[in-house]
Amino acid sequence: MAHDEDDQQTDQDDQRTQVLPTGAAAPAARRDQAVRAAVEQGVVGPAAPLAGLLDIAGIRASAAALRDAFETVTPPGTPVLHAFAVKATPLVPVLRLLRSSGIGAEVASPGELALARAAGVTPADTVLDSPAKTPAELRQALALGIAVNADNPQELARIDSLVGSAPTGSPVGLRVNPQIGGGAIGALSTATPTSKFGIPLRDEGAREWVIGACLDRPWLTRLHAHSGSQGMPLEMMVRGVGATYELAEEINERAGRRQIDTIDIGGGLPVNFGSDEESPTHAQYARRLKARLPGLLDGRYGLVTEFGRSLLAKHGTLLARVEYAKKAGGRPIAVTHAGVQVATRTVYAPLSWPLRIAAYDAKGRPKSGPAVGQDIAGPACFAGDLLAENRPLPLLEQGDYVAALDTGAYYFAAHYSYNSLARPGIYGFTTHADEVRFAAAREPQTVDEIVAEAGGGAERDALRYL
Ligand SMILES: *Cc1c(COP(=O)(O)O)cnc(C)c1O
Repeated sequence: MAHDEDDQQTDQDDQRTQVLPTGAAAPAARRDQAVRAAVEQGVVGPAAPLAGLLDIAGIRASAAALRDAFETVTPPGTPVLHAFAVKATPLVPVLRLLRSSGIGAEVASPGELALARAAGVTPADTVLDSPAKTPAELRQALALGIAVNADNPQELARIDSLVGSAPTGSPVGLRVNPQIGGGAIGALSTATPTSKFGIPLRDEGAREWVIGACLDRPWLTRLHAHSGSQGMPLEMMVRGVGATYELAEEINERAGRRQIDTIDIGGGLPVNFGSDEESPTHAQYARRLKARLPGLLDGRYGLVTEFGRSLLAKHGTLLARVEYAKKAGGRPIAVTHAGVQVATRTVYAPLSWPLRIAAYDAKGRPKSGPAVGQDIAGPACFAGDLLAENRPLPLLEQGDYVAALDTGAYYFAAHYSYNSLARPGIYGFTTHADEVRFAAAREPQTVDEIVAEAGGGAERDALRYL
């Protein structure tokens, strides 16, 4: 009963929040305007047949909405750090843009930490996760004062000796796996009974071990669980956070003080890849947390969130020129430059990761005409390199453009160097009335760079004279 009322309330609230400010173009209109301008300004064209576009206004709006969502459900002064999961869009200018919107960084490798630092994200706004941290990485993080979440007992033992040998300002937490079960995509589900992440709370003796580990270490002040992911229902995510919150309450009761002062709820809010609607929203999730776990948000705990996909996915568009239009077995095929190198998950797991495709003509105008089932193929040399199979779209011709939508996270910025295909340029855009401005967030990779990265420099003769 209570659940249904709650959901109804949530739906009403969402209708309210979806009203756009007057004068602001809807995301789909901005995207069409940007595609047109990208063609007119030569951001894409015969010489640059592939580019990633990022809608800066959309990114700013999502960052503001995320902050607002949690401010609304917590008392003033509650410490909340929103740490963007860098792996979703590992680009320094994006991290800097988010930083200017009050968003920090969640990093999980030395490379990601270096990107966050290059973007000027402060140690206080940075969180280090990852299931495989080396002693050197841990030492660096503790020296910098970056929050660290230990994944397992062996890692905690390493941290023990580092904390014992040098003072640190780093908040230290333990990552737990509430083992609430998986979502619709097995490879992305982090809270299954046998997930590789964190300490499995429901395994025999594990919960008691966690409690003892905390009581033995007064400096262990955080719990972390990242149990959401694409394909995960909201209610299950809330359950994962709930198990973590209850554990914190138990630890604090046994400790007789508020030892666990911060709960890191991870990220993993699913994204709607089926339309332009943002659903679920961060506000919906925050309200659901508030309704189910009021004690988590009553100001006694600081919070960390680690959203990635839900902040960036809807603001990215992968734009590719149709190099050739052909037919095989009666099926029209548009051969483009967007394939496995920029849409790896979609190409290898098309059923889990379908992408919307929009068709544009050679001038970058939305293409109309009767829908015809056609394949949108990539440039890589294997038959499965398809962005979409038998997709009904206006018949594409040579020189047209296709756009793969909702690709701002884990797509064009997460390059896979199959066939030595170059990393495309990535451009942020803003629209002002009739004018669209672009700025490169990442220049296209050159073939000279490809050669150098493939051992074409000093290593050139390395194998011949071994
Ligand atoms: C990948 C990851 C995230 C971000 O997940 P999204 O689904 O992109 O929100 C957050 N925290 C951890 C620990 C992760 O591994």
